[in-house]
Amino acid sequence: MQRLQAFKYELMPTGEQQRDMRRFAGSCRFVYNKALALQKARYERGEKKLGYAGLCKQLTAWRNGTETPWLADAPTHPLQQAMKDLERAYTHFFAKRAGFPRFKKKGQSDSFRYPDPKQIKLDQPNRRIFLPKLGWLRYRHSRDVLGAVKNVTVSLSCGKWFISVQTEREVEKAVPNGEAVGIDMGVTRFATLSDGTFYAPLNSFKRQEAALRKAQQAMSRKTKFSHNWKKAKARVQRLHGRIGNARRDYLHKSSTAISQNHAMVCIEDLQVRNMSKSAAGNTEAPGKKVRAKSGLNKSILDQGWFEFRRQLDYKLAWRGGYLIAVPPQNTSRTCPCCGHVSKDNRKTQALFACVECGYEENADVVGAINVLRAGHAQFACEVSGAVMPPAAGPHRSDSSRLDAEMNAVGILRL
Ligand SMILES: [Zn+2]
Repeated sequence: MQRLQAFKYELMPTGEQQRDMRRFAGSCRFVYNKALALQKARYERGEKKLGYAGLCKQLTAWRNGTETPWLADAPTHPLQQAMKDLERAYTHFFAKRAGFPRFKKKGQSDSFRYPDPKQIKLDQPNRRIFLPKLGWLRYRHSRDVLGAVKNVTVSLSCGKWFISVQTEREVEKAVPNGEAVGIDMGVTRFATLSDGTFYAPLNSFKRQEAALRKAQQAMSRKTKFSHNWKKAKARVQRLHGRIGNARRDYLHKSSTAISQNHAMVCIEDLQVRNMSKSAAGNTEAPGKKVRAKSGLNKSILDQGWFEFRRQLDYKLAWRGGYLIAVPPQNTSRTCPCCGHVSKDNRKTQALFACVECGYEENADVVGAINVLRAGHAQFACEVSGAVMPPAAGPHRSDSSRLDAEMNAVGILRL
């Protein structure tokens, strides 16, 4: 089995290397924006969109032209990759996966990518990496890179420079370990498993919100671009960085623990994007419960549910397990004991008490048990090849994997 994996490290660049990296990221942003403007102008004139080859020809002209001679200082491949990124943005737009490509701004996702492994030298024993036009860069070698290097992305985040080394390697096909489990995602508890264990809410943003607000206010009082303003800005950046790190760490730890111990994980197919849509609505259709909803939205985004699900999906795939997304209908209102569905079953937010048979349990655990049941039903349905009615809603994230690895079914307790 082929495994693609990225390894990310913090760089320890010299002052000159930092200046160069900032310039290269700027050049990539510049050519991306210039190419996007060109495509827009061509569209308005009724001309056809330029393909990747056409864009690269333009790029060569810009590099050799008299208007932007500084572009020639930047490495060629990363500039071409910016063209590729634009091409991809258009593809996503036409496939309705994303909005129309937008111009890039300085300071948001400053990065550039070296696509050619032949030009990259990774010297792990000496904790350094060679990149064209930057030379040898030292990095914090927190773990070994496994596999063959495919490409390297250099990025700036919260005032620090990072490299992400994309690799490819052959791994043995994994045998999943453990049983099936259902997960109920919530705000008061981040995740509750059907066996009763739960993960506390992360809320890293909330906890540090006050500190961040204070720092932002302090920054707003300073004269823009003054020395003190820069210091205040660095502080805001540092807080943002710390919040992001705490969140990433928590999500990775919990998704690793769950994927290590379970062969099949069922999760509610919450449309995080829909739930976190603007609660305010528009003038024709004003939103209901705007305040409560925007609070919930903030919690959802803060907890990184979508990222959690993405991590579970690929980590389970690495271990030969499955992630199954089930439609969330009635998972919080059905009695796992007698199957009675009623909203009266949910006496309070935290307690579930069936009005038919008197079964009592924590409401989140009940939700997780129902998610697990729905997942079992869906899995059995797909294995038997039965066609699911469209009303049954979203299906597994990757059904082709299921077909390819049917032998795993025997391990699951269905
Ligand atoms: Zn009941």
